[in-house]
Amino acid sequence: MTTLVIAEHDQQQLHGATLNTVGAALRLGGEVHLLVAGSDCAAVAAQAARLRGVTKVLLADAPHYAAQTAENLAALVVANAAPYSHILAPASTYGKNALPRVAALLDVAQISEISAIVAPDTFVRPIYAGNVLATVTSIDAVKVATVRTTAFDPVAEGGDAAVIEALAPAADTGLSRLVSRALASSERPDLGAAKIIVSGGRGLGSGENYARLLEPLADKLGAALGASRAAVDAGYVPNDYQIGQTGRVVAPQVYIAVGISGAIQHLAGMKDAKVIVAINSDADAPIFQAADYGLVADLFVAVPELSAGL
Ligand code: FAD
Repeated sequence: MTTLVIAEHDQQQLHGATLNTVGAALRLGGEVHLLVAGSDCAAVAAQAARLRGVTKVLLADAPHYAAQTAENLAALVVANAAPYSHILAPASTYGKNALPRVAALLDVAQISEISAIVAPDTFVRPIYAGNVLATVTSIDAVKVATVRTTAFDPVAEGGDAAVIEALAPAADTGLSRLVSRALASSERPDLGAAKIIVSGGRGLGSGENYARLLEPLADKLGAALGASRAAVDAGYVPNDYQIGQTGRVVAPQVYIAVGISGAIQHLAGMKDAKVIVAINSDADAPIFQAADYGLVADLFVAVPELSAGL
């Protein structure tokens, strides 16, 4: 039994999500190989080779992998899938883009966002916005699954260097072309990797209030900033701040929810935080049922006090 993990990277280094996905792959038992597909990405392969538990890195380095399109990546994976019992990728935008295509081309079912491994053919995955955990068994010859990265510990770097094998690139499918990529840059930690998240909801009332109240608090705590969908829809903050069923799924050490009611769709994205703190003026807000620490207070008074006290 050998598992192929598709590495997510930016041509220079691996994304943290890949380390958690390798962590999941190691739970399966067998060997773990990592596929690095990109352009001028030898440094990524070298980093991948040092991950503990990885026994082989497959490096496909060609210009048509620079854009990391799902079409070209899937063609490469399918061409090299024969030796593998499992093919895994993080349940990130990248993995969710590529893996259904891999599964379809291999004519197997995709198992989405696994959060636990019961046996090599049996997985737990959340459904209904995380309110139900389904245990599913696959009878397919090869299991193609995306991994909920917050559910698995990342593997450490610094293992014995694994073999790096150059892989012949598959032909360019020419099915899609990257026109441009607009990336938000921030000094703050990435939401997925942050230990502390300060998150704001509709209760803040405006983008100005969000910035004026939550940024100083996040600065003091070295925290990432997040938001409810209501705050995103109202234009207080950009889309990539959204946490929840249709946003990011996070599991920080501390999650501070400010002016967020705690709708199930929001809880789906943050209920695995180790400690949840809620500040809300409505004592009956559902967020208090999920919170470890709750403060029933006007956020316009409580948040500046909290920031000043830190
Ligand atoms: P509200 O529910 O309006 O809550 C605002 C809170 O602020 C209230 O509890 C209020 O008491 C409090 N408040 C107001 N003023 C103050 C004050 N001065 N001091 C302190 N507290 C105050 N939502 C998400 O967040 N993420 C998702 O991914 C997501 N996906 C969805 C997918 C679907 C298919 C659907 C149908 C909905 C989804 N939603 C999602 C929306 C979700 O149902 C809620 O509408 C949303 O989470 C509400 O955001 P909120 O808590 O900021 O706003």
